[in-house]
Amino acid sequence: MKEDRAREQANFSRKPTIAYVLGENLYLNITNRCTNRCRFCLREQGKGIGGYNLWLPYEPSVQEIIAALEEVGELNRFREVVFCGFGEPLLRLGAVKAVASYLKERWRVPVRIDTNGQANLVYGRDVVPELVGLVDAVSVSLNAHEEGAYQDLCRPALGEGSFAAVREFLRSCRRQGLRVTATAVAYPGVDLEAARRLAEEVGVEFRVRPWLTEEGSEVEVEGKKEQKRLEELLRGKVIAEADLSQGTVKLVFTDGTRFERTKTFEGMIMATLFAADGSTVLSTRI
Ligand code: SF4
Repeated sequence: MKEDRAREQANFSRKPTIAYVLGENLYLNITNRCTNRCRFCLREQGKGIGGYNLWLPYEPSVQEIIAALEEVGELNRFREVVFCGFGEPLLRLGAVKAVASYLKERWRVPVRIDTNGQANLVYGRDVVPELVGLVDAVSVSLNAHEEGAYQDLCRPALGEGSFAAVREFLRSCRRQGLRVTATAVAYPGVDLEAARRLAEEVGVEFRVRPWLTEEGSEVEVEGKKEQKRLEELLRGKVIAEADLSQGTVKLVFTDGTRFERTKTFEGMIMATLFAADGSTVLSTRI
């Protein structure tokens, strides 16, 4: 195991990465600062993801970020360009706006920001209107359904009120007409169903994200055991209703339980079984 770990570390690029490709998307890593210290954060584990070293020796200037994008070239071939790296992109609001503006003027590719949703608390004003016209979608890490759980999981430096600020940020994104999705990581102890209910109350979409390792694979909390267990739980169930539209699979069984198969932003397929009362029985990557 130790040797495997050493080999993985050796495979990581020594060069810090500003722009990196994962699946069909191009990602931008523009800061290593963050107002959170989430327990599941990849920064707690190591250097980066998928062989890309995401620790930056300094924050790249707008010109350097644009140069990295020009070097990649042909950006319209990507599904999205996403501000998402080893830190909170909106801590560099000015740089995000300038680079997004370049992307809108030079390319036709959709732009997304993955954020912890605390920007309004950081700047003391609602910054969402400033993103309108520059950004198409925002993915906000909600990760909890109430302040206490959020504090425990995400350990925000801005303390009490951080979760309320995230919720308000989601509302503002919705009001401003941005395509907004609240997400929660399938990390032990996270009440995915309660987070989903809260997202629905706020009126935004909800997605479960896998808990990733540096290699980009899901953390083997229970690993294959989880998938086996899911198979066992599904065995013998009778489908009462099925919705196979828009690439998702939603099944309702005669005993009131539900199954959903969804694709994450990272292109991973998640399978979730819900109990009749709506609580999550099991959520795993398949
Ligand atoms: S908000 Fe994102 S970058 Fe910040 S600590 Fe949490 S997972 Fe890591």
